[in-house]
Amino acid sequence: MIHHERLRPPSHDYPADEWNIIEKGFHPEFLAQLETMLAVGNGYLGMRGGPEEGGPNAENGTFINGFYETRPIVYGEEAYGFAKTGQTIVNVTDSKIIKLFVDDEPFWLPNAHCLRYDRRLNMKSGTLDREILWETPAGKQVQIASRRLVSFVNRHVAAISYQVTLLNAEAPVVISSEMVVNPPSAGANEDDPRRASVFAGRVLHHRAGYVKDRRIVLCHATEKSRITLACATDHALETACSHTYKALHTEDFGQVAFTIEARSGCPIHLTKYMVYHTSLTASSEELSGRADWTMDRVASEGFPQLLATQEQYMNDFWRRSDVRVKDVREDRVKRTTVEIQQAIRFNLFHILQASARAENAGVPAKGMTGQAYEGHYFWDTEIYVLPFLTYTSPQTARNLLTFRYKMLPQARARAKQLGHRGAMFPWRTISGEEASAYYAAGTAQYHINADIMYALRKYVQATGDDLFLQDCGAEMLVETARLWRDLGFYSDEKGGKFCINGVTGPDEYNAVVNNNAYTNLMARENLRYAAQTVEALRATTPDVYTELVHRTALEPAEVEAWTSAAESMYVPYDEKLKIIPQDDDFLDREPWDFQNMPPDHYPLLLFYHPLNIYRKQVIKQADVVLAMFLLGHAFSLEAKQRNFAFYDPLTTGDSSLSSCVEAIIAAQIGDMDKAFRYGMAALLMDLADVGGNVKDGCHIASMGGTWMMLAYGFGGMRDDDGTLSFWPRRAPEENAILRFPLTYRGQMLEVEIGPEKVQYSLREGDRLVIRHENEEIQLTREHSLAVRPVSKR
Ligand code: BGC
Repeated sequence: MIHHERLRPPSHDYPADEWNIIEKGFHPEFLAQLETMLAVGNGYLGMRGGPEEGGPNAENGTFINGFYETRPIVYGEEAYGFAKTGQTIVNVTDSKIIKLFVDDEPFWLPNAHCLRYDRRLNMKSGTLDREILWETPAGKQVQIASRRLVSFVNRHVAAISYQVTLLNAEAPVVISSEMVVNPPSAGANEDDPRRASVFAGRVLHHRAGYVKDRRIVLCHATEKSRITLACATDHALETACSHTYKALHTEDFGQVAFTIEARSGCPIHLTKYMVYHTSLTASSEELSGRADWTMDRVASEGFPQLLATQEQYMNDFWRRSDVRVKDVREDRVKRTTVEIQQAIRFNLFHILQASARAENAGVPAKGMTGQAYEGHYFWDTEIYVLPFLTYTSPQTARNLLTFRYKMLPQARARAKQLGHRGAMFPWRTISGEEASAYYAAGTAQYHINADIMYALRKYVQATGDDLFLQDCGAEMLVETARLWRDLGFYSDEKGGKFCINGVTGPDEYNAVVNNNAYTNLMARENLRYAAQTVEALRATTPDVYTELVHRTALEPAEVEAWTSAAESMYVPYDEKLKIIPQDDDFLDREPWDFQNMPPDHYPLLLFYHPLNIYRKQVIKQADVVLAMFLLGHAFSLEAKQRNFAFYDPLTTGDSSLSSCVEAIIAAQIGDMDKAFRYGMAALLMDLADVGGNVKDGCHIASMGGTWMMLAYGFGGMRDDDGTLSFWPRRAPEENAILRFPLTYRGQMLEVEIGPEKVQYSLREGDRLVIRHENEEIQLTREHSLAVRPVSKR
């Protein structure tokens, strides 16, 4: 159901532009959203997009992926096996503050008279750029130009180039560069359970600090999770104006203040370098030393070098990842096409910022753009984000799967605690331990096990990385298959079929149900893939097989049991409606009264007790519809049509993970009108604040979903049966061309879909076999192009 119609940002001050997210005026009412949207990050470090001056901020934040503090989860009523320890990402040292004073007057946006204001997230160069012309109360015109970046190449480094020029007068100028630890916290979660819990008191405890010329190093640690953080800033000032500086620090504050005799037309250029290092094991002395080394290197290389490597990195990213939408009539670039292009790049850029350098960490639901969902990793990563990464940045996909592999010990322990064999991955976590305080919509989502294995299969198929499968994947497969076999049972009631009871599927509005169809279908896939992999290893690489048996104490009979369970898997089916019921009881539930529901009562979770929701036929997010996408080959076109027609009106889309999936199935069944509308809702989820909570962070899963919507929905890509094939649809705009690259087995394919024809070009590599509809196409270096008509259906 589409109840959120597209919300447009005010286009006069936020104009559409293919490469930039532009803000043309300062609007306090959009402060919080803009902090999220204009955040810069690299997957390790993220800084919300507050102004350089350190304010005004709605919810200022600097985050390091995986840097969290723990707290006990307090339940009114305890029960066995409830998650005990909450984990919350910490708002770390804010190092980006640069305050400006002219004639002792502070430059403060809310009351500054700006003759020009332009701030833009520059997605081509990977920077946040700002240009302001400020007229002081004394009529002095001050030009302020800044560029902020979090480096993709230097994982621990951020930098700001800050240039001030007085245009029509001279004046004493002070530039105070500051760093603040334990900044005031970003408000509690009273009104919205999706927001983070807030710690009472200081989270970061001072361990060390020093000043060395214009460099300050502050070292802090968390008390319970015992993670140490060193943050260093250093400065270079270039100007022909005479100046002095003073540097100082206290436990939670650092400042280098430059006092300058500014002359008219004489630029003052400050470069601020910021370095973050974190560690679970290193002492504060050692960590400060690491920050020093990194700082020595970047400060000697200078900002132009940081910028050049950032631009190179971005070029390479867009070469591998850019999805282009163009008007076929070159002379008529329609506004909507530019808007769509902007939105596509915005989504892809933020996925990059959330994942690129997430080494030894996952992708938080909000990236590092906000504290909502506490910086936790969910299935969002595997089902929504990994497809894009697998086909554009396979190394990043591998890192993320490796990180899951490293969680296996905790997943084994959790399974044991819950009385299961095998491994049970946490529904939400940072450390690897389950951190979900609400089991019904948390721990009960066993499907996460199968989701991770689904992503693994897709990764291995697309990359041919058998080594990863052997080293890490197979072990995860054994343990997850074990869990399914142990969790389910052969039910006499269901004709001896293998049933899985007491789980929650992706749809969190129907909790703790029997035989959630999505879960059963995905578990079947998991069991089959595990059995196939183990058998293949036994036949082809006996050494690897022996090692696997050694690591997992695998018995041959187990593999047979997985196959039997998979082949006997119960999948609910309703003969009358000819659809797959979402679970055993779904069709018995009372219909939700959509007609008489106040339109402002979405999302339901903020207005109704869970029990009111659970007993009704109402859906938060794509569930059976998601299964039809992920396991597309298991459903006929008619089955997809019937199930979509049934589930779409019941699906509120209260989760941002829904629209993109609805768009894909709508496109696959030929309902292009719905595909466009859902597609736009997904594309604009963050730019147009469709869900009204962008202030709390970007919806990274939906962002990954937009890529899937373009590639799998409109691009007609299919890979669920192990081969790369295409059944293209029209581009998401009339007369538009949709073009996207795919990295497949180390080669690069470009797919271009126009209104009449589709072109497949081998851009890099020697030979690639793909399918267009039912036809096999071989692309080689010599015959690198194939053109086929887009069939009208
Ligand atoms: C969705 C989950 C999702 C989580 C984090 C919830 O609202 O229902 O599917 O994993 O948000 O994005």
